[in-house]
Parts: sequence; structure tokens; C-alpha cells
Amino acid sequence: MNDERLESLMTDLPAAVRRAKSEGVKVVGYLPGPYVPEELIYASGALPVCLAYGGDAQVADYALSLLPPIICPFARAQVGEMLLKNRPVYDAIDMVVVPSTCQHYRMVGDVWEHQEWTDIFKLGVPYDPREEVSMVYFRDRLSDLWERLENLTGKKITDTSLKEAIGVYDRLREALRNISLLRRNLSPGVSGLEFMKLNHASLVGDPLAMAEALEVFHGERVAAMPDETGVQGAAGVQGEASGRQEAAAQGETDDSPRLLLIGPNVGIGDYGILEMVESAGAHVVMEDVFEGVRDYWCTVGQDGDPLDALVQAHLVDRVPAAFMRSSTGPRFEMVSKIIPWFQVEGVIWYELLCCEFYDQEAYFFENKLRELNIPMLTLESNYDDLRSGSIRTRLEAFLEVVQGGPADA
Ligand code: SF4
Repeated sequence: MNDERLESLMTDLPAAVRRAKSEGVKVVGYLPGPYVPEELIYASGALPVCLAYGGDAQVADYALSLLPPIICPFARAQVGEMLLKNRPVYDAIDMVVVPSTCQHYRMVGDVWEHQEWTDIFKLGVPYDPREEVSMVYFRDRLSDLWERLENLTGKKITDTSLKEAIGVYDRLREALRNISLLRRNLSPGVSGLEFMKLNHASLVGDPLAMAEALEVFHGERVAAMPDETGVQGAAGVQGEASGRQEAAAQGETDDSPRLLLIGPNVGIGDYGILEMVESAGAHVVMEDVFEGVRDYWCTVGQDGDPLDALVQAHLVDRVPAAFMRSSTGPRFEMVSKIIPWFQVEGVIWYELLCCEFYDQEAYFFENKLRELNIPMLTLESNYDDLRSGSIRTRLEAFLEVVQGGPADA
């Protein structure tokens, strides 16, 4: 898939949602983060659509008539889209699922409710997945969602249809994982921006069609790589092989800085940070982003009771989100595995203005990363700051540090 095809895939997404709607398919939106099981929505015959558009300060500011400026720009953008009615994806929504992951989401759900925008389902997400009671509670909430979806679409969800839906989404996750792993190579087989757009497309498009498109993309990129022995397999985050060492042995010479992007959220359209990194000559070889990016490491599986499997995979098995109790340690542990695995040399901490979870964690991560000799640059965005020259200057100075320049550059 070349740039042109990727762009046309992105621009066709709203039309695809409209087409589905005109064919009588119900469209169920949800706020991003890995806690809303799209499998359940898909099994009901509805099209799951992640409401994750962001990056436009004007849209976010439009919501200031209903939300205070202490609400993060991504959350405000969701209300702005509802008010502006410019984006067909939001116009198509028949029902929306709002997970209780942070207070900003709660405000979005409340405003949508007050404005009587659409049918709203608030999905309680417990703060400590290790407790048995949390699993019981979450299962109960998913059972309620199950019923609400059946009422919306008029179609019964069966264990069989749910397992089939799980199979489709696991296939989608596997395709994304395989593409992401191409970045372990010294010359990444996919850029950070391309990967982000593919990941975003998977959140809006029909999941089966998207899985097929992603598999084709992966096959094309593998075929185009100079030597397939340099392509790293999907062995899991614990994999030990060094893509950089193997690629170096093959005589490849890409010494561009390799960066990990960490942050709460990268919205569909919020591409300024990735464009800036790439135009400065660096690669984003991995991202650890909670919202707006599909979690493709954790699959669900089709064994046993499918609702239990959804609870286990969506609540318990994945690396806990920043709002979860005692989540910082496991999250750093995951990052410390990603760093050697993807040969990461520096971290960009991309947080949104007023996002208290990530603001609080930045200090901890910066100190812990220093122990690993990995420098970190914190950038805060209100969706309009990235255009400023000072951020570009800070990024360029940071890349000099990553490449061995003076630490106070
Ligand atoms: S970016 Fe932060 S504050 Fe905004 S919705 Fe996400 S977690 Fe909440």
C-alpha cells in the first residue's frame, strides 16, 4: 500500500460508515481505550466505530460553551464534533458507549446526555482489575450492554456469534501486531505515521475488511524489504532477538534515532507530533498510547465462555491503564521490555493539556528511564502548540542528545 492508497483508505472511512448506515446497519460509537469490547457490538450486527477524532484546536474550542477549559482537548473535541455536526461519522451514531476511565470522559458522557445527542450506555470500568469483585461487576455491565445492543439492533447475540466476532477482532489485532513488528528492523518496514493511520483505520472501518487490508499491507511490505531474514517475527514482547544487530550484520546503515511515543491519546488526525518527528529525521518505532490506538498485543481467544473471555482480556490481561490502581509499575515494566526489543533510544512523552494521569506519571517515568540511560522529552499539546518553532527547537535538541550530544543541548 503506497501513500496514496493509505490516504484514500483514510478518506473513505466516513463514506463506508455512511454506506453501512444507509444499508440499515446500526452504528454504535464508543470512546477509545481498550475497555469497550467491540466484539460484543459487532456480534449484535452493529458497526462499532471508535469516536477518536482529534487534533483540531478549533473543534476542541467549540466545546468551551459547554465544558470548562480544564477538560482535555481530546475530550472537548468529542463534544465539539457533536455540536458542529461536520463529521459524518458522528452524525451516523445510533448509540454510544462511554467507559468510565477518567473524569474527562465522564464529562463528555454527561454533556452528550444533557444535550440528548443519542442513546448513551455508560460502561463502568473498575479501578482494580485484580479483585474478584471487579470481574463480577464488569461482567455484569457487559451483560447489560449485551441486552441493550440486542434491543437496538433487534438481533440476538449468541455465544457462537460472539466467538465469531472475537475471531475477527483477534485477526485484526494480529495483523496490526505483524505490521508493528516490522519496525524492529533497523530500517523500519513501516513509518510511525503510516502505522498510526493504519491503526486508526482499524478503529472505524469494517473489521473484516480492515483485517484483510492490513494483511495485504503486511505482505507487500515484507516482500519489499531487502532481506526477509531481517524481518522480526511475532514472538511476544519477551522476544530477545535484536533487529538492529541483525540488520547491522546485513550492512544496513539507517542510524536515525529510534523513538518510543508514550502518551494518553493520539486522536485520528492528531498527526502533528509524528510528522514533526519524521521531518526531523527520526523514527517512531513503537507507541504506548492508551486512547485512539488499538491495543494489538492482547488477544481474546475463542475458548470457553465468550463473555468471561472478554472480561479476562479487556479488563485483566492487558497492561493496566494509567487510571487503574497501582498501574505505574506494570506500565513501566512493559516500557522497559519494549525499549531493548525495538532498540529504542529515546522517549517522547506526548501528553494533552489538563490530562492529570499522564502529567503525574511523567516525572516518575523520566527518572526511571534515566536509570536505563534513555532520555525523555515531554511535550504537552493543546492541539495548537505543535506549530510553534520552540517545540521544533526542543525536539531537535532532544534528538542531538539521543544521538550522543551534550545532555543540556
Ligand atoms: S487524554 Fe487524559 S484527560 Fe483526556 S480523556 Fe484521555 S486520559 Fe482523560
